[in-house]
Amino acid sequence: MPTRLYLASSNPGKLRELQALAEGSEINAELLPKFRELPAAKEEHASFALNALEKTLYYSRFTDQLVVADDSGLVVDALDGAPGVRSARYAGLNSSDKDNNRKLLSELSSVPEEKRTARYLCVLALARRNKLVALFSDSCEGRILTEHRGRGGFGYDPLFYFPPLEKTLAEVSEAEKNLHSHRGKAFRKLLAYLKNHSP
Ligand code: IMP
Repeated sequence: MPTRLYLASSNPGKLRELQALAEGSEINAELLPKFRELPAAKEEHASFALNALEKTLYYSRFTDQLVVADDSGLVVDALDGAPGVRSARYAGLNSSDKDNNRKLLSELSSVPEEKRTARYLCVLALARRNKLVALFSDSCEGRILTEHRGRGGFGYDPLFYFPPLEKTLAEVSEAEKNLHSHRGKAFRKLLAYLKNHSP
């Protein structure tokens, strides 16, 4: 019998990605019913794992099915890990991707190319009825450029150079990004886990 998995996320791109990866498997991934009507979970911790955990425990109280929530962001070595868990609001509350990218370039303005190493991190937390089932995480290593390149992706992708493809993540197709991205890899770990366990 197929396993139903609810994703608690306001980002439709994440659901599309999870559904594409789950295609042909015994896992039916859907958005958590009434997700948009529920008061949003808090994301105030200093770690991706705690934020993902808090979100999934909270949202899993609204259903008997498995729920997965994620937290992700960009970690830049020369900035002591910033923007980190504050990636979405780096330039301030309600800041746009453009504002955040501008701030990132400005903070790194005096940092030479070889020191502009960075990674995207993603943590997924899986829960059922307010109990944690498992955590999965993965990363994607790259470097922050001094200028935007490409029109695809979102967030920091036009500045995030991915050496194995010699492109930024805004210059690759969605399928190519999913193959290498922090979230794509973490989603695949989650699906592999569900294939071998029935929590
Ligand atoms: P969240 O996990 O959706 O809360 O993402 C937090 C923030 O991290 C996003 O708003 C982006 O700024 C950044 N981020 C996370 N994943 C990516 C990615 O794959 N590309 C670009 N930015 C990302």
